[in-house]
Amino acid sequence: METIDPSRVAELVRREEHRFVEEHPRSGELFERAKRSMLGGVPMPWMMEWAGPYPLFVADAEGARFTDVDGHEYVDFCLGDTGAMTGHAPQAVAQAIAERAARGITLMLPTEDAIWVGEEMARRFGLPYWQFCLTATDANRFAIRLAREITGRSKILVFNWCYHGTVDETVVTLVDGRVQPRKDSVGPPVDPGITTRVVEWNDAGGLELELSHGDVACVLAEPALTNIGIVLPEPGFHDELRRLTRETGTYLVIDETHTICAGPGGYTKAYGLQPDFVTIGKPLASGVPAACYGMSKEAADRVMSRFDRMHVTDVGGIGGTLSGNALSLAAMRATLEYVLTEEAFHRMSSLAERWTAGVKTAIDRSGLPWEVQRLGARAEYWFTPEPPRTGAEAAAADDHPLARLMHLYALNRGILLTPFHNMALMSPATTEDDVDAHSSVFAQAAAELEDAAIRR
Ligand code: PMP
Repeated sequence: METIDPSRVAELVRREEHRFVEEHPRSGELFERAKRSMLGGVPMPWMMEWAGPYPLFVADAEGARFTDVDGHEYVDFCLGDTGAMTGHAPQAVAQAIAERAARGITLMLPTEDAIWVGEEMARRFGLPYWQFCLTATDANRFAIRLAREITGRSKILVFNWCYHGTVDETVVTLVDGRVQPRKDSVGPPVDPGITTRVVEWNDAGGLELELSHGDVACVLAEPALTNIGIVLPEPGFHDELRRLTRETGTYLVIDETHTICAGPGGYTKAYGLQPDFVTIGKPLASGVPAACYGMSKEAADRVMSRFDRMHVTDVGGIGGTLSGNALSLAAMRATLEYVLTEEAFHRMSSLAERWTAGVKTAIDRSGLPWEVQRLGARAEYWFTPEPPRTGAEAAAADDHPLARLMHLYALNRGILLTPFHNMALMSPATTEDDVDAHSSVFAQAAAELEDAAIRR
């Protein structure tokens, strides 16, 4: 396999780290101060993962750009890892938030906005009944609970190297064919083999075998893996997934939190999927915490017949005091009505096409054994000559030091990529110039690496 000489990567990382520290003194000072009151000097653990020796501290963000406290401006292709796919602070949403905030934020009573959003989600995703919560993690946890409740089955099934948030049952991988807590999962609870079956993405035979036990309440799946790079479904895989889940009385939960990048109704609408549940969070309210899950009439009828008998209380395991609050719903409505529109998705997709073409041209010119993949408004490059077809192949293709170099290189030249992978997301505010700026920086980095390709 061809790869990049690690000593060349290390040399460039040292050079880029030096430059980062020189150019970001104020972020450095704030980080020193932050270490005295926050674990690792950051508000939450993921923020330790940025490519620089410390994170940038942000001053302002608008549209597809933000400014750090040292006064540098960046094109943001991370966009809060999809939370700000709308672009930062879109005007219509900022205004709706300000207006709603002045008229009451949370009541544990519905507002009319909730109906508007429920109707709009039904129109976009084709599922009739919706519920609201605050995060995609919550949406997944609640969909899983409902599926367990109405099937009476104990297990769920996920695909290897999936990510669905901090849902205990899903922080797992296959190790030598056995379900294990995912490497580096923090304080794993019970043996995950008790709660979860795991199959490789695109492995219909494995799926058939695991579902044949009849103990799986639901399959929880992204319609394309996006959290170990983009791994697309092979032709026919979704048909098999739907056929096998139906045949075994297993609910199919499609997590559209990232794959909303495929269009206004997510991958589900774009590719005609027929899930029983859809879950989604992140960009729905332009970054204000908001998420939801929808379900088919059949699932909803079964849920309601249970709820009628159960006297659903606030301690039944589905809830969240702030779920469905007036502010989130107002922000969701404005986002769906004015920002994440059909027209915006057309623009975003063609920008992602341009980004992909720019990266591809630089890869071809440099002769590096890399590839680039796109799904709607999201694109990502791989350090492999072919895109992986399973989560395990994708995980094996990871080259952490090289990815870190590419991220830091881009950051030092005014471009933010999504940490954890080499991903770029387009927003309605992103421009062709923003995309071309990335292409040019990527080409520079590739040129600095092209002589360091080695066979291993
Ligand atoms: N589902 C998917 C597909 C995700 O990628 C993520 C987060 N990356 C989540 C759910 C969880 O989102 P949150 O952290 O906002 O709960």
